[in-house]
Amino acid sequence: MSDVPTAESAAQSAYDLDLEMSLLLPSSAPGRWVAAVHEAARILATRPWVRGGRAGDELCTLALLLFARTYTGERQPHDVPTTELHDALAGPADREPQIVDEIELALTAAGQGYDPTSVSAPPLWRIFNTIRSQYGGRLGASSLADDIEPPAPGPSPMRGAAQRLSQFLTGYSDQERRQATAPDVQAGSLSIEAERIQIVTTNSLVRLCCPEDHPARVVRADGPSATRECAQGHVAEHWQLDPAHLRVAAARATGVRLSSQGTHQTQELMIVAVGMPRHSDPNQVNWVLQQPDHPIVGRDDIIEQVRRKVDGVD
Ligand SMILES: [Zn+2]
Repeated sequence: MSDVPTAESAAQSAYDLDLEMSLLLPSSAPGRWVAAVHEAARILATRPWVRGGRAGDELCTLALLLFARTYTGERQPHDVPTTELHDALAGPADREPQIVDEIELALTAAGQGYDPTSVSAPPLWRIFNTIRSQYGGRLGASSLADDIEPPAPGPSPMRGAAQRLSQFLTGYSDQERRQATAPDVQAGSLSIEAERIQIVTTNSLVRLCCPEDHPARVVRADGPSATRECAQGHVAEHWQLDPAHLRVAAARATGVRLSSQGTHQTQELMIVAVGMPRHSDPNQVNWVLQQPDHPIVGRDDIIEQVRRKVDGVD
């Protein structure tokens, strides 16, 4: 990848291996986890990475398994035989993968487990908890009603990833593994400072603010988390902000690599909301920005104008 991608290449690489690696590599990542992510990326480097695909789940699952097998330091991730990985991932397709318990024990032993007394979960636990969750997309508004049965669990993303990985590793040779190289992605956070930071959906452009309603001046992607910070130093997450969309927006606005670290500046940052595809171009998906010249963009009364339009007043 070029060091100075265009907006188009930022969209094209929105599902690339190096972006997926950066989502797994927070600044606080332990060294043994970084090594596990790099080895998993090496094994998957030749696998096709397609737009909207679930290859990120495979990278995450393989990294967690490699970590569970090497966190004690007796072996390095590249010492774990491919056949051992295959055997750990193979199993009945109608139940959750057997590696879940082993990974949970390893994370706890490594100080990355769930701690009910802590306000925020360690990043590795957060990564694990997302991919092994059997309730993704099942906890809708209806489940909040008292008289409705809670939703039944479904297959976790890790279940499908384990099956695909075991198939992939069946035909994968040790020679292929030795010759592969992973992208050079360091653990670290990416911060973007901007005069104006907005969340883009198809019908709204909303200025990102802190919980006390001050405009956000900085957004930061750090492994699996994304936060915004106002001029008064209030830092918080936001339900429409995630690190993948933030990194794609940063690459569009500043030309940095998707997996970059450090602090960068830009005048305006438009981040596509979480529920939309990462590769979405704000200028293509938002009806206001689609107008030939959009005079209301950049003005503070935009929310009111959008609301009037949606309500049919105009
Ligand atoms: Zn604030």
